[in-house]
Formats: sequence, structure tokens, C-alpha cells
Amino acid sequence: MRLLIMGPQGVGKGTQAKLLAKRFGIPHISTGDVFRANIAEGTSLGVQIKGLIDAGGLVPDELTDTVVAQRLAEPDCAGGWILDGYPRTIEQVHALDAMLLGAGHRIDAVVALRADHAELIKRIHERIAIEGRADDNPAAIERRLSLYDKETAPLLNVYKDRGLTVFVNSEDKIEDTQASIIRHLADYGLDVNAR
Ligand code: AMP
Repeated sequence: MRLLIMGPQGVGKGTQAKLLAKRFGIPHISTGDVFRANIAEGTSLGVQIKGLIDAGGLVPDELTDTVVAQRLAEPDCAGGWILDGYPRTIEQVHALDAMLLGAGHRIDAVVALRADHAELIKRIHERIAIEGRADDNPAAIERRLSLYDKETAPLLNVYKDRGLTVFVNSEDKIEDTQASIIRHLADYGLDVNAR
């Protein structure tokens, strides 16, 4: 199973992606997590991108595409994956298309999560209390939300035009949203039995 999970910050992509990964026995790949691990370890990539991420900006496409291509080439990705936070730009959509073409694979579905702006802000504030992310400051949050609207939201239409997108309301409790995602994927024709 090869899935993308998309939606604005605070919508619950990471939480839902982890549950889907567990159910389907596939790795959950979050580009944000990979970048934060590089920053924590002080790798040259981490040093290069820390300022950008803390300010709520996007890491350049070329760096991001390379990170994803390397991760998808690892053995645990052979049977599928769920990508969380990638692609975020149209260039990244094209880069992912090329990676998939090269491997003879295709995306099974794109899960698009939505929640009202007020709910997103509420969840981001709850996350600040729990995780204390360096990029969860008001200016960076605002920048990320506006970059999402400008760069990433239009990608939902790209995948919708390909007939791949399932839209799911993510304002319910975690387990209810997860059940709703599973129902949508089943209606879409995918085998949703736990592996
Ligand atoms: P996330 O954990 O998905 O909110 O990502 C945290 C930050 O990592 C983002 O605000 C960006 O600075 C960076 N990032 C994550 N994924 C991408 C991507 N696909 N393209 C560019 N930057 C990204």
C-alpha cells in the first residue's frame, strides 16, 4: 500500500499516518521528522536547514527530494509506505512521480484531511504545550499555514484530477477520524484489512 497523507499543520496527519502505518505494516515517513532528526544530530543537512525550518519556511525542493528518494530506496519501503508532509510543492509532485516511475510503483490513494482554521490553531497550541517544537512560534505557525494555502493546498486538486484523493473530516476524536479514513479507503476500493 502506497499512501500520501495531506492537510494543513495541526490537522492530525502524523497521528493518523502512524495508525495507518501500524494497520498496514508499512513505514510512516514524515519529512518533518527526518529533518528534525538531522537537526538534533547536527548533521550537515541539519545545520543547513535549521534556520529555514525554525522560521516556518520550506526546505528547498532539491534537498527534500533527495531525502525522500534515499528513504524510499531502503529495504523496508519495498512493500509500501505512507508519506506524511511530502509532497508540499508541485515540483515535489513531479519528483515523486519520477521516483515512482523509476521503481515501477504507483500511489494507491491520497488521504486529504481537513479541519476548520480555529480547530487547527487550537491543536497547534496543544502541541506546543506537549512537544515544544522550535518552529511552533506564532510567526512560524502563520508562515506555515500561509505556505500551505499557497503551495500545498493546490496539490490536492492535482491528485483529485488523477482520481486519487479521498477527503476526510479530521475534527472528530482520533479513533473516529481513523475509522472514517478506513471507511473512505474501503469505499475507494482498497483492501483495508489489517496486515
Ligand atoms: P512538519 O513536521 O511536516 O510540519 O514539517 C516541519 C517543517 O519541515 C516544515 O515547516 C518545513 O520547514 C520542513 N518540511 C517538511 N516537509 C517538507 C517538504 N516536503 N518540503 C519542504 N519542507 C518541508
